[in-house]
Amino acid sequence: MIPPGATIGILGGGQLGRMLALAAAAMGYRVHVYAPEAEQPAAEVSAFATRAEYDDAGALDSFAAAVGVVTYEFENVPLAAVRRLAERVPVRPGVAALEVAQDRLAEKRFVADLGGQPAPFRAVDTLAELEQALGEIGTPAILKTRRFGYDGKGQARIAAPADADAAWAATGGAPAVVEGLVAFAGEFSVILARAADGATVVYDVPHNVHVDGILATSHVHAPPAVLRHAPAAIELAQRAAAALDHVGVLTCEFFATADGPVFNEMAPRVHNSGHWTIEGARTSQFENHIRAICGLPLGATALTARAVTMTNLLGDAADDWATLLADPSAHLHLYGKREAKPGRKMGHLTRL
Ligand code: AMP
Repeated sequence: MIPPGATIGILGGGQLGRMLALAAAAMGYRVHVYAPEAEQPAAEVSAFATRAEYDDAGALDSFAAAVGVVTYEFENVPLAAVRRLAERVPVRPGVAALEVAQDRLAEKRFVADLGGQPAPFRAVDTLAELEQALGEIGTPAILKTRRFGYDGKGQARIAAPADADAAWAATGGAPAVVEGLVAFAGEFSVILARAADGATVVYDVPHNVHVDGILATSHVHAPPAVLRHAPAAIELAQRAAAALDHVGVLTCEFFATADGPVFNEMAPRVHNSGHWTIEGARTSQFENHIRAICGLPLGATALTARAVTMTNLLGDAADDWATLLADPSAHLHLYGKREAKPGRKMGHLTRL
């Protein structure tokens, strides 16, 4: 157990770290953020910050000595850094969850082994393998790099076999998976928090609408065509969490299809589709993550309103904050980022 008053280390300095830090501070913890970037929304609300690269052994060791537990706010944190920290201080969730979630191929195989259903997929390491795979799974399809993809980055759509060349070039010829395009009634995510003793709480399932590969809105409640797949998806996510001996929040994303829930991807962390839980659930995903990694009892996840909607504020959409706040049911979150590039997540708005 890591008692209130202790210091929690967070790898990564983005908005997820910022909201984790705010939740931790509310419970009397101090937060120490470790990240290489010049701009760190998380460090701005934390007691301590280290700006260093993830391969800086000296900085990692000092960080480990300064904190009681380490967590991370993004899954692409280098494994070598996490392993080094884990020799010195508890890291929660552990390395196992990262190993799976960093690699789309490993993730799909892991979930298939648990009895889950990913989209039809093939591993492809060369253009020739891509062409052969398209012959097997057909088109339309999507090529996705195995590593470092997020928000639609590292992806290329393939409408017809003739597009293989262009798709392969667009993703830089990196090791990839190609998967069939799934016809879905909607997308949703399962967000759960699991304690070290296996106790698990699950949130209401949000219906997630993506635009250009980036989450635009999450609605709770999801429509019936989506919601009917929630029980099977929740059961699978719980099995995944148990298999990884996961401690903390785990998010699994699904497509609702005529054949049941099709697994898309998972994140061993708090997730954009769970931001609505700050005001929309009795205990937010951020607080439950902190509770889980510190060994505290998990909090209730029930809704606080009949309907909750979260809208991402991308690029200059955040400039409209004054208009958005004119709705008294709206809660505004801005991440303090200085430059509003198109598609950049600058904040979000939750309406109850
Ligand atoms: P991802 O980065 O894998 O979450 O992909 C981003 C978004 O692209 C998803 O949320 C979907 O909207 C869409 N997408 C990804 N893979 C597929 C697929 N196999 N079939 C249909 N849509 C997909």
